Amino acid sequence: IQEKLSLLKKNTHNTVNALLTELALERAAKVDTKIANGETIGLLEGIPFGIKDVYMLQGTYATASSDLLKNYKSAYTATAIQKLLDAGAIPIVKENCDSFGHGSSSENTIFGAVKNAINPELVGGGSSGGSAVNVAKDYTVFSIGGDTGGSVRQPAGYNNVYGLKPTYGRISRYGLMAYASSTDCVGPLAKSVEDIRIVLNVMSGKDIKDQTTYNSEGIEKENILNAADIKTVGYFKNFIESEAIDTQIKDDFLASIEKIKANGIKVKELDFFKSDILVSTYYTLAMAETASNLSRLDGTNYGDRIDNKDLKESYAVTRSEKFSEETKRRIVGGNQVLSQGFSDEIYLKSLALRDLISENFEKDFKEVDIILSPVTPSTPPKIGDSLKDPLAMYLSDAYTVGFSLGQLPTLTIPQGTETGLQVTAAKNNDELVLKFANFLK
Ligand code: GLN
Repeated sequence: IQEKLSLLKKNTHNTVNALLTELALERAAKVDTKIANGETIGLLEGIPFGIKDVYMLQGTYATASSDLLKNYKSAYTATAIQKLLDAGAIPIVKENCDSFGHGSSSENTIFGAVKNAINPELVGGGSSGGSAVNVAKDYTVFSIGGDTGGSVRQPAGYNNVYGLKPTYGRISRYGLMAYASSTDCVGPLAKSVEDIRIVLNVMSGKDIKDQTTYNSEGIEKENILNAADIKTVGYFKNFIESEAIDTQIKDDFLASIEKIKANGIKVKELDFFKSDILVSTYYTLAMAETASNLSRLDGTNYGDRIDNKDLKESYAVTRSEKFSEETKRRIVGGNQVLSQGFSDEIYLKSLALRDLISENFEKDFKEVDIILSPVTPSTPPKIGDSLKDPLAMYLSDAYTVGFSLGQLPTLTIPQGTETGLQVTAAKNNDELVLKFANFLK
């Protein structure tokens, strides 16, 4: 743990300057005592992990990589994190990310851009960029990211590690700062399917503090070793035939498809919504929800405040000065699509489209067991490039956001490249996703 802490100290772009040194060393000493006394130890006893800085961990900073919350400390601990603590895991760092989860490159942060683990001139991906890089570099054994529209899967792909977005509701969101509540998911990143399985099992379960959670059975190791019951895999033709996809990514993807066929699994081409429909539906809903969720951040209850004689003016100045450009773009966009005169045309239409997308998935999963896709249409951009064109950045999320709208379990499998394969199954079928990942290994 000491070694990992000192590596993190040298790589500040992965952190929000919030190493949990004292807490980590104190907990590590307790583990040593337990072992010395021959006491039984927890499943994750002594395992160092990182936490994307959008989670509450009592008494420590919870900045969301934002200026507004840079001095804010958590008053309580998130359910998912508490379960990891109870299993003995040791949190060592709060990790750098796009502010409030807003972004795909981990450049929308006051702590400096996260650098890609494979090529430091490229972005680490986002929004859980710090988490993915820490895992890739072995600074943490696993990290807990948050995935609203791809924020675990995309940086996992960019940095060549595993990253899971479980079925929506499998893990409690209590204590995760809300971005878009209808798609927000707690998601682990790690270097093996086995680590993902263990951490997922520890964090899952119903929580009375999050009414969208449900009870799920733990996934047994033996149950995911044999993929004989996976008969048919589907993929979206239009993702692969799109003009936006890099040739190398397309070739790699088609090579994986051939490998699957060679193993006797049937492969089926599926029709799906065009990328621009997926991206616009997702961003309409995500912006609407974040405008609502972030309205609580006005400098009165949480975070820094810029005082003014007039209370309303204080809210306005605090929010104008302390939110990033990207976050303000989303708040303004969200309030616009929710406002009278626009909501019928834009917001309600997006809700209807989301239903159609979900119905499409239900239909597909009657015909195939797994849907396979690349994680991203292109490789990670150079640091600085995606800030120039927000729309291009939104469009780069084309392959991840649909599965978020469908609330499906979906996992990035590293491919030794700068993007990965994304494996998706029907709702509540997280086990099948892990099983297929073991098969593809
Ligand atoms: N890039 C997407 C967005 O900015 C996804 C982010 C996320 O999953 N938190 O909305």
